[in-house]
Amino acid sequence: MKNFNPADNIQDLQYFGEFGGVNPSISDSSTYTFLSAKTMFDTFEGNADGCYLYSRHSSPSNLYLGQALAAMEGTETANVAASGMGAITSVLLQLCQSGDHIVSSRTIYGGTYAFMKNFMPKLGITTTFVDTTKIEKVEAAITPNTKVLYCETVSNPLLEIADIAALSRLAKKHNLKLVVDNTFSPLSVSPVKLGADVVVHSLTKFINGSSDTVGGVACGTQAFIDEMRNVNNGAAMLLGPTMDSLRAASVMKNLRTLHIRMKQHSHNALYLATRFEQDGLKVVYPGLKSHPGHELYKGMINPEYGFGGLMTLDVGSLDKANELMELMQHRNLGYLAVSLGFYKTLFSAPGTSTSSEIPLDEQKEMGLTDGLIRFSIGLDNDIERTYKMMRECMETVGVFKEAVSEF
Ligand code: PLP
Repeated sequence: MKNFNPADNIQDLQYFGEFGGVNPSISDSSTYTFLSAKTMFDTFEGNADGCYLYSRHSSPSNLYLGQALAAMEGTETANVAASGMGAITSVLLQLCQSGDHIVSSRTIYGGTYAFMKNFMPKLGITTTFVDTTKIEKVEAAITPNTKVLYCETVSNPLLEIADIAALSRLAKKHNLKLVVDNTFSPLSVSPVKLGADVVVHSLTKFINGSSDTVGGVACGTQAFIDEMRNVNNGAAMLLGPTMDSLRAASVMKNLRTLHIRMKQHSHNALYLATRFEQDGLKVVYPGLKSHPGHELYKGMINPEYGFGGLMTLDVGSLDKANELMELMQHRNLGYLAVSLGFYKTLFSAPGTSTSSEIPLDEQKEMGLTDGLIRFSIGLDNDIERTYKMMRECMETVGVFKEAVSEF
């Protein structure tokens, strides 16, 4: 891992446009011509390198982006998708068939949770949700039918840290595939280097970074990605979650600045988390020593990209959380919006938004409280100024009254 720098790997990739453009040309075609019928047949069979058949299968723009994301994650290749869910669902459906079983972290993105809990059983695939920070619980949940271990590097929304190396050892011991969603920690963590088999991302978030599109990717071995694209039984080919070429080209351009953005997101989030913790608030941020996964995470990250841009604050009640978020938005400190990785700070109460698919009793059990606000900290230039403005909002709505006796 020492010599692996994901941002350098992206930087080293050069693509030119067909007229010498500094950006690769966008493939604006859904289908491709062939000079010989034989080459068309070979391409269909997957045996004609460099030829394109039909853009649901692959297109030059999607392959450029896929190669850049594979370079970032240190995998042989990657397949981009129209959304993070498009990538996640096709990976899981490729790896599992009727009768199979998944062991998943219980704190994952609500959509992924809902897919495993409510949709996959219709296909005879079941999931046991466990606290993946307790390796013995993960092992206890494995059955002879288990095929996949699933987790998020930094979980949504509780920011728990997955011990990917330990989960990978377990996966190897039981002959399972370890699938890791690395959406919250691009560049900071390289899951494949820690033993993951497949890495998925919602490109919608930090990687694209402009909140102007949805997108996803699955990074893995050439053999696995070829399977996903297989015309006869590949989930990516047959379910059709194809990213549009125009979008692939725009995500690719944004990827070029990801390293600068991640450093600023991490810098700003660490500053705010540290200050709010000193103020006596209940802050969760993996960069704080008080975070139960801090030491583990410190050992996992590529340090220059930091501990990431996500933090949570528990302000005591949903009413207070709503009041605070509305005021912060009114004062232009950010937007009351789901999603993450934007230049502007985004905040939402996950219990009633992105994790509302998780039943209330399960939310409670995993520590997802009513007053929890998830912040995706933006790229603010002067974070001390932001801190002071946020603190004023907190004082106005009375957050400190309950959190600290003296302020
Ligand atoms: N994974 C994580 C961790 C997410 O937060 C999300 C969306 O919020 C997704 C996957 C799904 O991605 P998309 O909305 O691009 O389908």
